[in-house]
Amino acid sequence: MNLLEKISSLAKRRGFIYPGSEIYGGLAGFYDWGHLGNELKFNIKQTWWRDTVQLRDDVVGLSAAIVMNPKAWEASGHLTGFSDVLVECPKCHKRFKADELGKKNESLVCVECSEIFKGKARQFNLMFKTFVGAAEEAAAVAYLRPETAGGIFVNFKNVLQTNRLKIPFGIAQIGKAFRNEINPRDFVFRIREFEQMELEYFIHPVRNNPVKQDAAVPPQAAGRISNGVKPQTPTEWLSYWVGRRLKWYESIGLKNIRLREQSQEERAHYSRATVDIEYKFPFGWQEIEGVANRGDFDLTAQMKVSGKDLNYFDEETKEQYTPYVIEPSAGVERIALAVLCEAYLEEKERIVLKLNSKLAPYKAAVFPLLANKEKLVELARSIYDDLKTEFMTAWDDRGNIGKRYYSQDEIGTPFCITVDFESLEKNDVTVRGRDTMKQVRVGIRELKEYLKKKLVK
Ligand code: ATP
Repeated sequence: MNLLEKISSLAKRRGFIYPGSEIYGGLAGFYDWGHLGNELKFNIKQTWWRDTVQLRDDVVGLSAAIVMNPKAWEASGHLTGFSDVLVECPKCHKRFKADELGKKNESLVCVECSEIFKGKARQFNLMFKTFVGAAEEAAAVAYLRPETAGGIFVNFKNVLQTNRLKIPFGIAQIGKAFRNEINPRDFVFRIREFEQMELEYFIHPVRNNPVKQDAAVPPQAAGRISNGVKPQTPTEWLSYWVGRRLKWYESIGLKNIRLREQSQEERAHYSRATVDIEYKFPFGWQEIEGVANRGDFDLTAQMKVSGKDLNYFDEETKEQYTPYVIEPSAGVERIALAVLCEAYLEEKERIVLKLNSKLAPYKAAVFPLLANKEKLVELARSIYDDLKTEFMTAWDDRGNIGKRYYSQDEIGTPFCITVDFESLEKNDVTVRGRDTMKQVRVGIRELKEYLKKKLVK
């Protein structure tokens, strides 16, 4: 088994991630998240939301509908342009994105059967179509959103009018997005239904500084603008957000991260500069987030089609303008997969997920040494009930203690607490750390504070 197979097998065995609709043979590109996977995703979203919205004065949240008036997608260019080039191997009939084809002696070949590719290529729109209204024939065609950003742009005026906001400010959203990917692959890396965490950060375009406004961002400059110096130009803001996002990845314990600036040919047509944040997966360096300077493309496009004014008026300077937008856009499942890859470790006698404690589904587990000793169970229960009010706590009274430790190691629980006969006399417990496997005795009264101090905020 390769590393990705090992991780996906653990994810299924322990209830993180199941193949979607498995009893019917599954459905490519769709996965279901079990109890632990759900907690992991919830923790990722929660720390992102806290960092991006709750701890800032200049960002507000939004939760827009998944299905929007299709005119919004006409305006954004998705209806005509959100497509990949689809190719089909003439021999084995496997379908690929054109950029997935292999190369042999300068010829393009099918990566499945190595046949030299001579077939036709066609554009394939990635949006899922649906119908709004009772009868299909009479109903209006609509689309499942391929990214959450659209809902933010169409609400620009609503949000501006109902919050006391001045540029620069941001609107953040976490929600489902759908893409009918040609070739879903690499477990939950490329899927058809996923969640995005997106921020649209609106800034002054600094039009009188045309040289600076569109200059590409050298990735190494990212994050330098932070210590009290307020970014001014779009380039500086892009760099600022790349830096903020890197800090966030650091805070959740992702180390194998690098920045890669997209070349002009790679960039989407509306992007003036894009920096990809990549993670080193077992299958290579791949994007987990893109941070883009989208200029004024989105608001201008929505204004054109809707006929509504989405400009910004600065009361102080009396200047009216269409703001530029900097967009950090991250995928929850890709980050969850990166987190699992980073945390997975095989040691001599155990498999352990060294998850950052902020992300671990359970922060602690409580065990009575023996399940049939009433006094032990009673005391352990009271500790469990108490800890549960503070953080996610697991209960396990099956099998021997060693097995229970390994079982918690495998799902990344940072601390295990055992109640034994000494506990009844001395009012203390054994606390065993996941990473060091060391055990210490801690007084029951001090236990909650002890754990809170050890767990990363
Ligand atoms: P890719 O080039 O890998 O298809 P993209 O550049 O189209 O990605 P964006 O449109 O920038 O991706 O989307 C922002 C983020 O949303 C990505 O960095 C990724 O984390 C997530 N994302 C996009 N498509 C998928 C997908 N099919 N499955 C899982 N996550 C996705």
